[in-house]
Amino acid sequence: MSDMDVKREQLVVERVPKGLLIGGRWRPASGGREYEVEDPSTGRALCAVPDAGAEDAAAAMDAAAGAAAGWAATAPRERGEILRAAYELLVERQDDLALLMTLEMGKPVAESRGEILYAAEFFRWFAEEAVRIDGGWKTAPDGNGRIWIMRQPVGPALLITPWNFPTAMGTRKIGPAVAAGCTMIVKPAHQTPLSMLALAEIMGQAGLPDGVLNVLTTTRPGEVCGPLLRDGRLRKLSFTGSTRVGRGLIEQSAENVLRTSMELGGNAPLIVCEDADLDKAVEGAAIAKMRNVGEACTSANRMYVHASLAGAFTERLAGKLGSMVVGRGSEPGVQVGPLIDAAGRDKVDALVRDAVAGGARAVTGGEPLAERPGYFYPPTVLADVPPDARLLKEEIFGPVAPIVTFEHDDQAIAMANDTVFGLVSYVFTESLRRAVRYAESLESGMVGLNKGMVSTPAAPFGGVKQSGLGREGGGVGIEEYLEVKYVALDV
Ligand code: NAP
Repeated sequence: MSDMDVKREQLVVERVPKGLLIGGRWRPASGGREYEVEDPSTGRALCAVPDAGAEDAAAAMDAAAGAAAGWAATAPRERGEILRAAYELLVERQDDLALLMTLEMGKPVAESRGEILYAAEFFRWFAEEAVRIDGGWKTAPDGNGRIWIMRQPVGPALLITPWNFPTAMGTRKIGPAVAAGCTMIVKPAHQTPLSMLALAEIMGQAGLPDGVLNVLTTTRPGEVCGPLLRDGRLRKLSFTGSTRVGRGLIEQSAENVLRTSMELGGNAPLIVCEDADLDKAVEGAAIAKMRNVGEACTSANRMYVHASLAGAFTERLAGKLGSMVVGRGSEPGVQVGPLIDAAGRDKVDALVRDAVAGGARAVTGGEPLAERPGYFYPPTVLADVPPDARLLKEEIFGPVAPIVTFEHDDQAIAMANDTVFGLVSYVFTESLRRAVRYAESLESGMVGLNKGMVSTPAAPFGGVKQSGLGREGGGVGIEEYLEVKYVALDV
C-alpha cells in the first residue's frame, strides 16, 4: 500500500465525529468511557469511540421525547426534502464512506460503495413516501355518520442495527422513521459505529433538526437498550440482527406493549431445478452466496441441486468461487474480504469441519487462511453434504456453499421448508408452471426467481417464521412507523 493510501485511510477515520449524538450535540459517554474499533483485515485498532451507558441512554430518550411533538408536526414535504438532501450527500461522498465501511467491516471497497448507494436509495424512496401518507373517509354503511381514518407517527423509536450492512440497515429504518415523523435513538453494532456516526453527521448537514436522530455507540447493548425499552416514552422498536437477540427483545418489548419490527436471521435455500439455465443458476448462486462474503441474512445457506445437474453445477460454482481474489478490502482487485471477527471465522471453520467429518467433500477451500493476520476464510464449495450436517440448519454467515442433491420437486420443497427460518428462497427454473408452484409453496417472505439478489428499497423486505415480523421498504415500509387512528363522526 502506498503512503498516500495509508494517509487517505487515516483521514477518512479521523474525519468521523467520535461522539454520542444526543439532542444535536456530539458528546463523550458519561464517565468518559471509550472502546476501540478494529479493522478485521488486520486485527488492529482504527480509533476509539464513546462507550455509552444507562445515563447516556436516559439523555438520548429525553432528547428524542423532547423533539417528538415538533417533529411530528413538521410538513411532510420538509421531511421528504431532508431525506432527499441526505440521499444527495451520500451519493456525493460515496468514495470516502465506502472506504470507511471497508476499514471497520472488511468487505471490498466496490461492495461497500454498492452498499452506500443502496443505503442512499432508501432515503430517496422514503423522501417520496413522506408526502404520500394517506387516510380515509367514508359514509358509515347504515348512512348514519362518517368514518374518518388518519395515520400518525407512532412516536419515539429505538433502532438497533447489525454490523454486516452498517449503513443500509440504518437508512432502511431511519428513512421511514424520518418520513413518518418519528424521532429516534439508533444503536449501531459495536463493531461498526463509524459508518453510523458518519451517516448521523450527514443527516444534520441535510437539515434534520436536533433531537430527531440520536446515536449511542456502546459495547453494553443490554445496559443501554434495557432502560430504553422500559421507558414509557418509547413507542417503537425496530431491530435487525440475530433471531436469538431478537427473541429476547420481543420479550422485553412486551412490558410496554411496544410496536416491534424484527428483521432476524435466515437459512436461505437455493434450488436448482432440472430445467434450470445452468449459466444463470451458477451466476445467481455465486451472488447469493458471496455478496458480503456470505455475511448476509439473505445469503444462500443451502443449495439443493437436481441430481442431473449437480456435477456440472458443483464444478462450475467451485471454479468461479475458487478463483476469487481474497485480501484486504481496500486493496485493488480484492473480491473477498475478511470475516468480521475471530468468533465469526471460528464458527465457519467449525461448521465446515462438522460437515466434512460427516462425509462432505471440499471441492474448493475448506480451511481458514491462517498464514495472514485478520479473519480470513476462503470461498468454499462442499459436495456430498450429509442431511444432518449442522451447517444445513444454522446460519453459516461465511463464504461456504453446501450442495445437496434431489430427485423430485416435492423433495426439494420439503427440504427447503424444513427450518425454523423463512426469510428468502432462491429458485432457478425455466418453467413458468414450476416457478409458480415453488413461489407459492416455499415458506419465506421473499423468493428470488432466477435471481441471486432480491433486496431493493422499492420492495417489501422481511421474513416469516423465526426470520421476523414486519417489512422494510416498498409501499408498506412506512406503515411500520405509523399508527392508524379512526374517528367516528356523528353527522
Ligand atoms: P446480533 O448479535 O443479534 O446483533 C445485532 C444488534 O443487536 C447489534 O447492534 C448488537 O449490539 C445488538 N444487541 C445484542 N445484544 C443486545 C441486547 N441484549 N439488547 C439490545 N441490543 C442487543 O447480530 P449480528 O451478529 O450483529 O448480525 C448478524 C445477524 O443479523 C444474523 O443473524 C443476520 O441474519 C441478521 N440480519 C438480518 C437481516 C434481516 O433483514 N433479516 C439483515 C442483516 C442481518 P452489539 O454489537 O453491541 O452486540
